[in-house]
Amino acid sequence: MASQNFLHELVGSLSQGAAGNPTVAMVEAAFRHHDLHWRYVNMEVPPAGLADAVRGARAMGFRGFNCSMPHKVAVIPLLDGLGESAALIGAVNCVVRRGEQLIGENTDGKGFLKSLQEICDPRGKNIVMFGAGGAARAVAVEVGLVGAKHITVVNRSEPRGRELVDTLRTKAKLDADFVVWRGDYTVPPATDIVINASSIGLYNADARLALNLDSLKPNMVVADVVFSPPQTRLLRDAAARGCRTLDGLGMLVNQGAIGVQYWTGVNPDAGAMRIALEQAMGL
Ligand code: NDP
Repeated sequence: MASQNFLHELVGSLSQGAAGNPTVAMVEAAFRHHDLHWRYVNMEVPPAGLADAVRGARAMGFRGFNCSMPHKVAVIPLLDGLGESAALIGAVNCVVRRGEQLIGENTDGKGFLKSLQEICDPRGKNIVMFGAGGAARAVAVEVGLVGAKHITVVNRSEPRGRELVDTLRTKAKLDADFVVWRGDYTVPPATDIVINASSIGLYNADARLALNLDSLKPNMVVADVVFSPPQTRLLRDAAARGCRTLDGLGMLVNQGAIGVQYWTGVNPDAGAMRIALEQAMGL
C-alpha cells in the first residue's frame, strides 16, 4: 500500500515546450499498474539550463530521466557513459542511473523495433526509410543491429543523409545507400519495409509524403514514426493499397516501456501504458 510518507523514487523528463506531455500519463500508468511507488515528473528545461538540471538530477538521486529535443545530443557530455546503440546513434533519449553513474541509452529505435517485430522480422529484409534526423538514426541503427539486409535512406538534405549512411556502413556494418529526396520517390519492387522516419505528417493528417503510391505493393509493411495523428496520410494510403501498416504510437509506448524496465527492473504492461497514452491524447 502506498503511504502518505513513502519516499517515492523519481524519474524525470527534461523537455522544452512539451507542457502536458502525454507520456507522463503513460509512464505513471505503468508505475501504478505495477504498484511501484515512483513518480515521473516533466520539467521544462531550456538549453542553457541543461547542465544544471543534470547536476540537480544527480544531487536529488533521480533514478533516471528522459530527454526530448533539443537535449538528446547536448546531454551526452554531461553523462558518465553510453549504451551501445546510443553511442552509434549519437543521441540519448533515456538516462539510467546505474550505481553512481548516469548512463545514456537510446530507446527510440528499440521501441520502433519492438513494434515492428510484432508484425514482421526485419532480419534479411530490404528497407526504404525516409528521413535522416534523430528518429531515423535510431530506427536505422536498431534494424541494422538485428540484421536487416539493406537500407536505402531517402532524405531531402544530402549531408545529413550521407552522414547517416556512412555511420550505418562503417559502424553498424550495414549495407546502406543514400538517395536525395527530390520529387515523388518510387519504392523499388524488392522492398519489404517502408518507414517514414521524417517529421512529415506530425500534427497534420493531410500532409503528403512525396512518394509514388503506385510503387507500394500489398506485400510491403509500411510504418510511420509519427504518432500524432496515429493514422497519417501515408498509413491510410498504404492500407488502401493492401499494405500492412504500423503507427508511431506503438513505438512511443515501447520506448517508454523499455525506459520503465531500465529504471525499475520491472517489465511493464505495455497495454496499460497504451491505454493511458491514448486517453491523454484524447484518442
Ligand atoms: P529531426 O528534426 O531530427 O528530423 C526531421 C527529418 O524530417 C529530417 O530528415 C528532415 O529532413 C525531414 N523533413 C522534415 N520536414 C520535411 C519536408 N517538408 N520534406 C522532406 N523532409 C522533411 O526530427 P526527429 O528525427 O527527432 O523526429 C522525426 C519524427 O519522429 C517526428 O515526427 C517525431 O515526433 C517522431 N518521433 C517519434 C517517436 C515515437 O516514439 N513514435 C520518437 C521520436 C521521434 P532534412 O534532413 O532534409 O531537414
